[in-house]
Amino acid sequence: MAAIEMKHIVKKYGDGFPAVNDVSIDVADGEFMILVGPSGCGKSTLLRMIVGLEDITSGDMIIGGERVNDLAPRDRNLSMVFQNYALYPHLTVYENIAFPLRLAKMKDSEVDEKVRAASKTLDLDEHLQRKPANLSGGQRQRVAMGRAIVRDARAFLFDEPLSNLDAKLRGQMRTEIARLQKQLGITTVYVTHDQTEAMTLGDRVAVMKRGILQQLATPRELYEQPVNLFVAGFIGSPPMNFLPATVEGNEITLPFGTFPLPPAKAERTAGKGLLMAGIRPEHFEDVSVLHSDEVDTARTFKAHIDVREWLGDQQYAYVPYEAEAKVQDQLRELARESDSDSLRTQLVVSLDAASTVQEDSDT
Ligand code: ATP
Repeated sequence: MAAIEMKHIVKKYGDGFPAVNDVSIDVADGEFMILVGPSGCGKSTLLRMIVGLEDITSGDMIIGGERVNDLAPRDRNLSMVFQNYALYPHLTVYENIAFPLRLAKMKDSEVDEKVRAASKTLDLDEHLQRKPANLSGGQRQRVAMGRAIVRDARAFLFDEPLSNLDAKLRGQMRTEIARLQKQLGITTVYVTHDQTEAMTLGDRVAVMKRGILQQLATPRELYEQPVNLFVAGFIGSPPMNFLPATVEGNEITLPFGTFPLPPAKAERTAGKGLLMAGIRPEHFEDVSVLHSDEVDTARTFKAHIDVREWLGDQQYAYVPYEAEAKVQDQLRELARESDSDSLRTQLVVSLDAASTVQEDSDT
């Protein structure tokens, strides 16, 4: 196992905008690091530079204290699990897992010991004589991981390993990977565009956009203290609401009315005038489930619910609103900055499962 230090890594293809632009990330020994961001943000390129499948334009890649920029992939002793698992269809599960050991000309008895130990960890012992075509997606995934485990590699690198699986299996495999990673304690770098995967798997998450590292933090920090609009909008599902707002004194005016601001927030926003308020769907309180004496009318608004989604343990209400002409430009700028595909002029509110509010009604 080893720590991975990326220092001011740059990757340029031709003369264009760098695919990876001065990225520095330290992955601690045994840490589970996620690289996440929208398509084209440079996360796969960065992973490929760690493995050695891509040259580094400038910067230093240090693995286990050793600069590996000029080291061939096979000399880096890393294990990569690809999206399509790269299994050999004509080989059994046993031989697929044994493959790197055969290449290394290991003795049969040692191979057998390692393959059996790995297949036990991965719950594959009953399938060792099957071919990949006769396995489920999840089992194939585990074979690919088995091949990575037997090599005693210094780190695991995953490139979107779950994107070919259906939603249920993806959830199961996510838990499986998290469990295995903790059990093996192996340094892991995992690329995904899926923020749920990032938030549930990573010890820390590096959020990238257009080749630039936006924020490197624990999932909780990303959620509670995003450093910019892009991270705020990217992390969280449904995404954070961005609402045009004006602050005057200790009051904030949103499209739904004017509300008192807590003193700390009023202090931070003093003199800013027009701004964007970021409010997560669950930070609205559903007053339909409160007793009347618990309702603070100064902080309450009524709105028309367009669509309501019921998820069993909670509900989401979608509330459209009109943006005044003077904030349209700001919203457009915001949509560009947060990489959202459309102008969001609807509010998403998380309601209590027991909420009595009705779709297509005012509440
Ligand atoms: P995705 O999730 O779609 O795989 P990504 O975030 O992993 O995206 P990369 O594949 O790292 O992004 O690509 C980053 C940028 O570099 C993109 O603009 C891409 O077009 C460009 N790029 C990647 N590989 C090459 C290449 N071999 N030649 C030229 N440009 C490339």
